[in-house]
Amino acid sequence: CTPSKQAIVSKVRVVVRVRPFLPQEIAARNGNSKSCIFLLDQQENDNYDEVSVHLKDPNTSRNECYRLDSFFDQEDDNVRRIFYREVNSLIPGIFHGFNATVFAYGATGSGKTYTMQGTEELPGLMPLAMTTILSICQSTGCIAEVSYYEVYMDRCYDLLEVKTKEISILDDKDGQIHLRGLSRIPINSMSEFHEVFSCGIQRRKVAHTGLNDVSSRSHGVLVISVSTPPGDGSGPFLMGKLNLIDLAGNEDNRRTCNEGIRLQESAKINQSLFALSNVIYALNNNKPRVPYRESKLTRILQDSLGGTSRALMVACLNPGEYQESVHTVSLAARSRHI
Ligand code: ADP
Ligand code: MG
Repeated sequence: CTPSKQAIVSKVRVVVRVRPFLPQEIAARNGNSKSCIFLLDQQENDNYDEVSVHLKDPNTSRNECYRLDSFFDQEDDNVRRIFYREVNSLIPGIFHGFNATVFAYGATGSGKTYTMQGTEELPGLMPLAMTTILSICQSTGCIAEVSYYEVYMDRCYDLLEVKTKEISILDDKDGQIHLRGLSRIPINSMSEFHEVFSCGIQRRKVAHTGLNDVSSRSHGVLVISVSTPPGDGSGPFLMGKLNLIDLAGNEDNRRTCNEGIRLQESAKINQSLFALSNVIYALNNNKPRVPYRESKLTRILQDSLGGTSRALMVACLNPGEYQESVHTVSLAARSRHI
C-alpha cells in the first residue's frame, strides 16, 4: 500500500503490537515460527510517522496492507518499548489537568491483558504508568488515586468494592463524566497499588456470572487520577486522569459460531468496539459531530477522548492468526482515516 498523500497528525494514535509465538504454538506448528504480519515500510517525519503493515496468509496467496502510526514486532520486551515510545509522553499532561486514554484492542489471545497488566517480572502498561506517576507525585506533592471498573453488557461495575456493585453514569453541564459512587483509592507506593489492583483483577474474573474467567468478555478500565495542588498555594487543585483499558476481545461472529448469552455478549462487545472506532475516526478526521453517545464505553470516555485529551490505541495481534489479525487491523486502520 502506498503512503497517505497528505500528512496525517492523528489525534488518537493507532499502533500495532505483535506478540511472540508461545512455546506450545511453535510445537504445534512443527517448529515454524514465521509470523504472518510484517512491517513493510516506515516513514518518519517531523510531525507525523506512518508505517505500512503487511499481513500475509501462509496457506493461500491472500494478503492485505494497512497504514498505521507505529509497529512493535515480536521482539521480547515490546511492552516496555511501547511504554517509553508511546505512553510516557502522555503522563506530564495528567499533572496539568488533562486526561488521556490508552486502549489495548484485539482478539482473545492476542496479548491485550499481557500488554496492559503484564506479569510480575515484566510489568505491563498499567503498572509502568503507575510507577512513573508515583515517582512524579513523590517529588511534587501531587496525589494519585485509582479506580478500577468494568463495562459488561453495557453496564459498569466497580471492582474495588468488596461486593461488586453496578454504578451509574452522570454527565454534568461542563461535559465532565461522573461515575456515581465509584471507589477511588489513594495510592502511595507500588506495593499498595499491587494489593488494590490484584483484588480488583480477582473480582473481574468472577463478577456477574460466578463462573471463572469471563474477563475477556468485558472492558476492564483502570483510572489513575492525579490531583495537583495550585502553583501559588491558593485556588482549586488541578485534576487529570489516565484511563488504561483492556478492551473485551473483538470477535468475528461469522467464525466463532456463538449462541445464546455468548452471542448477546459478543453483539454488545462488537457494538461498543465499532462505536469506539467511529469516535476515533470522527476525531482523527475533524468531523463536526463525534458520536460519543452510541455506547456506554464511548460515553464514559467522552471527557478523555478528543478535545484536549490524548489517546493511544494498541492493536494486539497473534502472529499465527491471519484472518483474525486482518479483522483487528482493518478496524484499527479504519479508525485512523479512510
Ligand atoms: P488477551 O488478553 O488478548 O486474551 P493475553 O494477554 O492473555 O491475551 O495473551 C495470550 C497469551 O499470550 C498469554 O498466555 C500471554 O501470557 C501470552 N503472551 C502475550 N504476549 C506475550 C509476550 N510478549 N511474551 C510472552 N508471552 C506473551
Ligand atoms: Mg485478556
